[in-house]
Amino acid sequence: METKSSSNSVTIIHNAMIVTMDPESRVFKNGGIVIEQDKIKAIGQSSDILSQFSSLAHNLQIIDLHGHILLPGFINTHVHTSQQLGRGIADDVDLMTWLHHRIWPYESNMTEDDSYLSTLLCGIELIHSGVTCFAEAGGQYVSGMARAVEKLGLRACLTESIMDTGEGLPTSWATRTTDDCIQSQMELYEKHNNTADGRIRTGIHMHIAEIPYENQFVKGNRKVEHGTVTHLEKIDFLQNNLLSAHTVWVDDTEIGFLSRAGVKVSHCPASAMRMLGFAPIREMLESGICVSLGTDGAPSNNRMSIVDEMYLASLINKGREDPLKLGKRLTSLWSIPTHGPWFLFMTAFQALCTV
Ligand SMILES: [Zn+2]
Repeated sequence: METKSSSNSVTIIHNAMIVTMDPESRVFKNGGIVIEQDKIKAIGQSSDILSQFSSLAHNLQIIDLHGHILLPGFINTHVHTSQQLGRGIADDVDLMTWLHHRIWPYESNMTEDDSYLSTLLCGIELIHSGVTCFAEAGGQYVSGMARAVEKLGLRACLTESIMDTGEGLPTSWATRTTDDCIQSQMELYEKHNNTADGRIRTGIHMHIAEIPYENQFVKGNRKVEHGTVTHLEKIDFLQNNLLSAHTVWVDDTEIGFLSRAGVKVSHCPASAMRMLGFAPIREMLESGICVSLGTDGAPSNNRMSIVDEMYLASLINKGREDPLKLGKRLTSLWSIPTHGPWFLFMTAFQALCTV
């Protein structure tokens, strides 16, 4: 299919099931869409679109989709692009082995060029699964990731992975102080935020409450009642610009903290099933938390298909609950106001959960 538009070109795509994901959740069973250069100009029934627009433009391309489904691009809200080259290096191990003996040695030996190539490969796979935007969970070279994103044409929220303390850190990471880490984040924000014609942003993205050991460690070292979320609430870190990855081991009080602060959660079903456990997604949705989906990195999943994650999210949560009860509750959440780009995933996820 020709995708590059020449100036003033108009493309009509028709004979498609169009799932708009707009505020009215409109679905056209036999729909058509008019695109002028890079903007959607009209959308409606195929017959109406063809009769209104097919004679108006000189430089016109008409594409018959033969009943295929057309919907907005997916957003993958938790992916480690730098780990793409490490697919398959950490199967069948627990999280601590995964980190200490497989992933940290791999990532700490990467170069900026390795990160660039890894992000390029990851991006190609993301595009293949219908993703147009992703949130990077953190690697070492934001400059390498940014070079790749610029070339790929995707939108991305990029972050550097930072650790100012921890047992077993690779030597090259173990010397960073808290101030070094914060300074580095500020410099990366200055350098990369809003670059690539606005396609690249930087953000705050954190792995939170992944395994029970994490909560035990925080309880023992920070003197809080439950775990990471309780500690973050105590130090006033929970804000509406925080994307919290996984967030599996949280209790009802902590779900309340996340909800009140407007924290967004990225649910990664495949990664959960491999190593972490099942997050209380129904409870989070019912408390008004914006929950989206992520694939996590290649060594946590061995694939980058967001459609597979929707399928797994649906089954996991039906397995945890009475499916009929779950379906009704999720259906009622269609009326939640939109949350910018995150809403797309949430609605897609809900739609599948109610099938
Ligand atoms: Zn992750």
